[in-house]
Amino acid sequence: MKRALIAALACAVVLLAAGWIALRSPPVEAWLFRRAVLHTLAQPVPRLADANELSVLLCGTGSPLPDKTRGGPCTLIAAGGRLYLVDAGIDSARNLLLWRVPLQKIAAVLITHFHSDHIGELGEIRLQTWGAGRAAPLPVYGPPGIEQVVAGFNQAYALDAGYRTKHHGAALLPPDAVAMVARTVTLGPGPAQTVLDEGGLKITAIRVHHDPATPAYGYRFDFDGRSIVVSGDTAPDEDLARAAKGADILVHEGLSPEMVATIRNGLTAAGRPRQAKIFHDIPGYHTSPVAAARIANEAQVRLLVFSHIIPMLPGAFAERLFLRGVDAVRPDGVRLGHDGLLLRLPGGNQAIEEDDLD
Ligand SMILES: [Zn+2]
Ligand SMILES: [Zn+2]
Repeated sequence: MKRALIAALACAVVLLAAGWIALRSPPVEAWLFRRAVLHTLAQPVPRLADANELSVLLCGTGSPLPDKTRGGPCTLIAAGGRLYLVDAGIDSARNLLLWRVPLQKIAAVLITHFHSDHIGELGEIRLQTWGAGRAAPLPVYGPPGIEQVVAGFNQAYALDAGYRTKHHGAALLPPDAVAMVARTVTLGPGPAQTVLDEGGLKITAIRVHHDPATPAYGYRFDFDGRSIVVSGDTAPDEDLARAAKGADILVHEGLSPEMVATIRNGLTAAGRPRQAKIFHDIPGYHTSPVAAARIANEAQVRLLVFSHIIPMLPGAFAERLFLRGVDAVRPDGVRLGHDGLLLRLPGGNQAIEEDDLD
């Protein structure tokens, strides 16, 4: 009996060793890799919006603070078959590529303001939309100053584009399609103005308050009776509440003053006054979650979704801390956004369908 047990154990060890050696053999590794490639390539393109749908995909819900779980500010709006990108924070292109979003369908980029966390990945968006098959220059809308930003990225990435056309051929990567083109949005005396009105989609720019980064805009999208508003970076803003009136979804930034104060105090205690000073300054031009909930109530939006979340939230306890006090102001219709959250609004009804691409 004992001998049989030892023999069985020995057999098991030999089989495991043989399996381990086989798994590490080049033909098996090549087969495993081929399978992984085929599996990845067989994944479908995500369903962002049907012909009569408006949807929002959070492609970056973080801020300038380093965060492994949240990319820099990025919100993708899909209206039927067309895509519009609001801001291009760090990692936004990477997120969109990982989720197999058809980047060649991005019809335009809309920049809210020129803080680095909102424009840092414009060069990559320029390259990746072109690489995916964009056949014409990419319009980039934004406040006055957008010409300077777009010209800078075009210049910085010109050598790269030249190499790639030379390498892959002009038929695949036409040099006359690669550029971004600045479309300056200058608001009149009013707080909001139409930027684009075509194919049933209306985009409105809304002046928000983010001094000294001024002017700064939020954007409202209306399509087939449904609507989404993206706040951009702003202190609590009555004009935004008015312009967001009755929207289905308000994607609003949020900064927890208590949590930021804790970080500031920690930095002071750690003898890091430079960083402490920065954390002292930033709450002044952002909106607390409770204030954002008040704005959402005032605007009578159906769903408030937090994005551009400050600070980083390492775990459920921090998420609860971030949202503390919100339910007293707004018991329902609040979501803490995360990278990959997709919300679809079918035309002609009130539904909000949810998916997660991450
Ligand atoms: Zn900002
Ligand atoms: Zn920002």
